[in-house]
Amino acid sequence: MRIGVLGGGQLGRMLALAGYPLGLRCRFLEPALEAPVDGLGERHADDTSEEALARFTNGLELVTYEFENVPVELARRLERAVPIYPPPAALEASQDRLHEKTLFRRLGLSTAPYAAVDSRADLDRALDELGAPAFLKTRRFGYDGKGQFFLRQRSDADAAWSALGGSPLLLEGAVRFERELSHLSVRGRDGGVAFYPLVENHHRDGILRLSLAPAPDVSPALTALACDYSRRVLDELGYVGVLAIELFQQGERLIANEMAPRVHNSGHWTIEGARTSQFENHLRAVLGWPLGAADAVGPCAMLNLIGALPDPRTVLAVPDAHLHLYGKKARPGRKLGHVTVQGGTPEEVRERLARMGIAAR
Ligand code: AMP
Repeated sequence: MRIGVLGGGQLGRMLALAGYPLGLRCRFLEPALEAPVDGLGERHADDTSEEALARFTNGLELVTYEFENVPVELARRLERAVPIYPPPAALEASQDRLHEKTLFRRLGLSTAPYAAVDSRADLDRALDELGAPAFLKTRRFGYDGKGQFFLRQRSDADAAWSALGGSPLLLEGAVRFERELSHLSVRGRDGGVAFYPLVENHHRDGILRLSLAPAPDVSPALTALACDYSRRVLDELGYVGVLAIELFQQGERLIANEMAPRVHNSGHWTIEGARTSQFENHLRAVLGWPLGAADAVGPCAMLNLIGALPDPRTVLAVPDAHLHLYGKKARPGRKLGHVTVQGGTPEEVRERLARMGIAAR
């Protein structure tokens, strides 16, 4: 069976790898000359002419995607030939921070206070309403902390406007939170759902660096709240596949920041650390197959390898450590791979991380 994947980065690579034991082969739409999916399936360039798309979809069971900036119009065109999951409505909702936050609010998820900003005067009005500190963000195409400006005080408005003015923007009040969490869930074609445990995330320079799974010290009520949030979004969108929601924790409250309609970096630990990996469960979901259990097998950490790679021997000398390299050329700020490590307790996981000799927060 062959499935189409829009994008050919590391997420596509790990989807393809999860597909092999299930008898699945992937066909990727990816323009880059070299990509992490090289050697793992057929590659088609992202020529979007009717003929090229017909060649791409020919013989495919379905199409899915591994990046959230897939043009909605392309997804809708593909949908005429072959099913596409998650549904294009999920792309639409997640590509625009204003639509995303409005959806969250409508479904009863707490969010930071926000206001749309389309002009310099709007920015002043939004600052009157929300005050500083605040984040000015582009509504579209922001990722890994790009496309945003932190206003410590009102007088930063000019600098913020000169950095981002001109595209549709959103001002968000700065939320005071204890930590950042993410919640991954998966919904099958029949509406069945499985929830992964909450994960604690640490960023550096706007890029995810470290995930601890399950997040330590999470109350049953907080888990129930996260599941409730995810369930509302999944059901509203008629979602199929893995969904990630990024959250801020304030005591027993969760503030929804954003979502990604795809497998997610904070779910890489699930390859070794959960009973079914996010990649396998995404494939099972989009194919309409039964979902696998999403619980953690034990405490686990995932550390992204950014910009440079460690000596594999140092990593692998640590018990229960695993290395995943994406076949990318080293460049500052680039995600080149990740390591996971498990242990009997969260303390043992931290101690093993420290032994790898890769600085982790
Ligand atoms: P984002 O691009 O929305 O994921 O934001 C990147 C990072 O900026 C988040 O992971 C938070 O650490 C921080 N951040 C974004 N929005 C807010 C907010 N409204 N309040 C506090 N911190 C935020």
